[in-house]
Amino acid sequence: MKIVVAEKISRKGVDLLREEKSWKVVECEPARDKLIPELKDADALLIRSAVQCDAALLEHAPKLKVIGRAGIGVDNVDIEAATKKGVLVMNTPGGNSVSVAEHTLALMLSMARSVALANESMHAGRWEKKLFEGSELRGKTLGLLGLGRIGVEVVKRARAFELDIIGYDPYISPTLAEDLHVELVSLNDLFARSDYLSLHTPLTPETDKIIGRENLKKMKKSARIVNCARGELVDEQALAEAISNGQIAGAALDVFCAEPLKNSALTELKQVALTPHIAGSTAEAQEIVGYRIAEQVRDYLKSSVIQNAVNMPSLPAEEYRLLAPYLNLAERLGQLLAQIGTGAPSVFEIRYSGKLSKMNTSLLRNSALKGLLNQILDEKSNVVNSVSIAQARGIRIQESHAQRTASADTLRIAVKGNSQNQGAESSVEGAVLMGDEPRLLVLDNINVECPLSGNLIVMKNLDVPGVIGKTGTILGKRGINIASFSLGRERATKAKAAKGPVGAVCVVQVDGQTPAAVIKELTKIPANTFARAVELPS
Ligand code: NAD
Repeated sequence: MKIVVAEKISRKGVDLLREEKSWKVVECEPARDKLIPELKDADALLIRSAVQCDAALLEHAPKLKVIGRAGIGVDNVDIEAATKKGVLVMNTPGGNSVSVAEHTLALMLSMARSVALANESMHAGRWEKKLFEGSELRGKTLGLLGLGRIGVEVVKRARAFELDIIGYDPYISPTLAEDLHVELVSLNDLFARSDYLSLHTPLTPETDKIIGRENLKKMKKSARIVNCARGELVDEQALAEAISNGQIAGAALDVFCAEPLKNSALTELKQVALTPHIAGSTAEAQEIVGYRIAEQVRDYLKSSVIQNAVNMPSLPAEEYRLLAPYLNLAERLGQLLAQIGTGAPSVFEIRYSGKLSKMNTSLLRNSALKGLLNQILDEKSNVVNSVSIAQARGIRIQESHAQRTASADTLRIAVKGNSQNQGAESSVEGAVLMGDEPRLLVLDNINVECPLSGNLIVMKNLDVPGVIGKTGTILGKRGINIASFSLGRERATKAKAAKGPVGAVCVVQVDGQTPAAVIKELTKIPANTFARAVELPS
């Protein structure tokens, strides 16, 4: 085996690979002219962020089995090209979680005790003892938005400061929160009760600018915000205004909408502490990710153990060709379900019918889970790792096969909520029609046929006259063009009809995104019980 280490990683990691006596470990510079000659007989390539592993580079690596990225971002690797060539790509998520958590606490303490300001004042030769009276963290309420890897590390450390910890994360199981002794609260309560509000979610349509004018109004005047997650979670202008107006007390930010930060109102405010996206940058984090990637690559080459893979292992080309449209269907059904579901799933069910039951159902299952999880987690889920991610989050997976020849070739997935959302169930069923087009056939057990692509509006309503007209009027008024309009309703048995109108669903495919205000208007149609904008790949 030949391992090429093309960037500086942990010495211990390189030594670990060297312990394999029959392996040749070559350390080389990332520049292409140095790297390309080494790649022609390489089995593994270890990188950080400098080497661009694009399709052209991979052409020079005919024997390559695995690319190991020490760190999380794989923007410098062409995953599709690697997958096509059957090259497994691994990364090391979570290697800097503790570093980010420590930085979060550092920023909180810095704000509570004016560390940065006092330091600045002393360097300017002043002694402003009175000016910098601080406040303790003890007894204050820390609100955490997101309780994933970093959120959990923050919880552990915040305990030592005797903070009361509350959290909002619609996708974690209440048992995990209980184990952490974190009180799960509604989003409104999180804003209203936090003295310190710290953000630890990925960037999703739900979290984009979640710190905006409306939510800032819900906060205490004494509250402070910490953002070591993603800049886009914060409407920077709204935050600067809220701090200037005394609506909240301050903020500490490590990440920004545009980096490096320039011409920002935030830099003018003394109540704002700023660091240049360094929360995860520590010597220890670099050491950890370097060692971990060496371990992962060694385990893969020696024992085929796959950890933290971001693509799927190679399939025989013919099998992959047949499976590809169904993998696409499964993933889109998962994406749809995540966007119309009712919060934290505790059970994930999948049913394969007809010829799908005889296919590589584990890949279908993993694709559906990948679609579901990628809507809610920062960690990139893929067909290799989606099951372990789901299990780690306490989601039970149930599979069933309907093999009767009369069964149509469909895939049905459902999620059941936990006790917090009264075990609510959402389900979708679809098929590949007209060659390779993924189509929805059934939603919440009601037949409704429509494309699984682009921008959709999903509505649930009572089957009474006027809903279609009102929907059309609202969308027309807002200049939203309807591409297709699909309807379905529950079968009206006599018993059901006697109780009043039956349930119905409506899926509208529209040209372009639907603003939140329009969805709000649609939910106000009296017969409507639910309206959600859904985005799927076009
Ligand atoms: P993670 O995937 O382990 O956890 C994210 C958590 O957010 C999950 O528990 C998920 O359920 C929750 N979540 C998703 N949508 C939510 C919503 N609408 N409301 C509330 N919770 C929601 O991710 P992580 O590793 O903990 O990373 C958290 C964030 O930190 C990410 O945005 C990541 O990019 C960022 N990060 C920043 C740095 C830095 O240097 N500043 C370094 C590493 C990670």
